[in-house]
Amino acid sequence: MLEVSLVQLTLPAVIGLANVPALAWLAVVVVLAAAVGARRRGRKGRRDPARWFDTGARAAGRALAGGRCEYPARWRPWRRCTSAAQQADHFYPWARGGATSMRNLVAACTAHNQTKGGAWPSWWLRAVITRRRCAYFPPGRPRRPGQRYQPR
Ligand SMILES: [Zn+2]
Repeated sequence: MLEVSLVQLTLPAVIGLANVPALAWLAVVVVLAAAVGARRRGRKGRRDPARWFDTGARAAGRALAGGRCEYPARWRPWRRCTSAAQQADHFYPWARGGATSMRNLVAACTAHNQTKGGAWPSWWLRAVITRRRCAYFPPGRPRRPGQRYQPR
């Protein structure tokens, strides 16, 4: 008769590491924690030192968007939001490596900027804004929103 107890089914037992001493496990945990910490510090190093858009960039972004929020309307996403553009939003969130640049600026109403927060935008949102900008961006101006910060 096959008899398997719960003790035998723990992960270390299943992957054949049941005989590794506890001190070795502790060493593994310490090394992993150090690696995660280094990665986080690295992320901060990849953030744009300029956190906020300056007054000129905000005004330019609003003017390009015709003073109107560029995000899709909440209840009718096939249409553009009708609210006034009160804020300059980092399309790629600053905290996740988005640049504080005109290429990464999207004019947004307060509600849309707060709703989006630090979320990474979807590919379709990028496609929708790129397509809509054909109607109000001057020709020759890059329309695709989103730019990552590149440290020099
Ligand atoms: Zn809006």
